[in-house]
Amino acid sequence: MAVATDGRLEQKSSGTVRYVGSPGMNALARDLAVGIPVQTGSTVTAVEPTSAGGERRWTVSVAAVAAATAANAGTTTTDEGPFDAVILAAPPPQWLPLVTEITSFHAAVQPVTFLPTWAAMIAPTDPLPIDADGLFIHDPVLSWAARNSSKPGRETPPAWVLHSNPAWAAGREEMAPEEVLPEMIDAFQRATGVKIANPEYAVAHRWRYSRAEPALGVAAFWDGELGIGACGDWCAGSRIEGAYLSGVAVAERVAERIAES
Ligand SMILES: Cc1cc2nc3c(=O)[nH]c(=O)nc-3n(C[C@H](O)[C@H](O)[C@H](O)COP(=O)(O)OP(=O)(O)OC[C@H]3O[C@@H](n4cnc5c(N)ncnc54)[C@H](O)[C@@H]3O)c2cc1C
Repeated sequence: MAVATDGRLEQKSSGTVRYVGSPGMNALARDLAVGIPVQTGSTVTAVEPTSAGGERRWTVSVAAVAAATAANAGTTTTDEGPFDAVILAAPPPQWLPLVTEITSFHAAVQPVTFLPTWAAMIAPTDPLPIDADGLFIHDPVLSWAARNSSKPGRETPPAWVLHSNPAWAAGREEMAPEEVLPEMIDAFQRATGVKIANPEYAVAHRWRYSRAEPALGVAAFWDGELGIGACGDWCAGSRIEGAYLSGVAVAERVAERIAES
């Protein structure tokens, strides 16, 4: 690990253990999901209270992604359930419009806004002469860079992942990837002092809900009366650890509910 500032690299050994998914970052989620029915490629379009056998339950409307983007959008939406409990595991701006009942946590999550981040993947033609696999970057444009090809299991040519500063990305979230990319590459070169000549490829990807502002500092939300909860990295920390701990926190509330029933 090193710190890159104005073309200078300073080695930094914090002793912090860092974990990497292998062969890709999504291996962690895939492994946790083994044996659990998971329906991917679908968009939840509504989460509505329903009554089944005199008990309060939830119905979840789901549209296949392909159908939702086609001209006949909506015609293949199916209602799933009824469910005893629902967990909203996405940033609030993505689920607030879908939940038709006001929960006990609506008021707490409504003020949360998000800073975006632009992430870029750059594959230089030759390995870059940088003596570190991860860089904290002191620059108005970038905050972090990692040599992706150094991660275990990556059968890829030399490639670096760059993360922008959220403050720089704010106001640029509607720009096209090809508009932000040159500034990110310039910043990387400025901070490291290393030139990226004719990269094999370079792509930028917007990460709209990158960091919750203000940080909530709450493990997760649970409305025991309605049987609905919310979790995610926006609750207690905008990283994988925060997402995991938040998911465990709300899962414990659901487990308690099952044990009581
Ligand atoms: C490029 C990049 C690099 C990162 N690198 C790191 C790193 O090195 N270390 C680290 O700790 N963290 C990293 N992160 C952050 C990490 O990925 C997040 O903190 C984590 O994924 C958050 O998990 P989550 O479950 O809270 O939310 P998400 O992963 O955002 O999951 C929410 C899911 O809900 C889905 N969704 C939303 N609305 C609907 C709907 N209506 N219907 C169906 N599905 C819906 C979304 O598509 C998404 O899949 C990185 C993120 C990005 C983008």
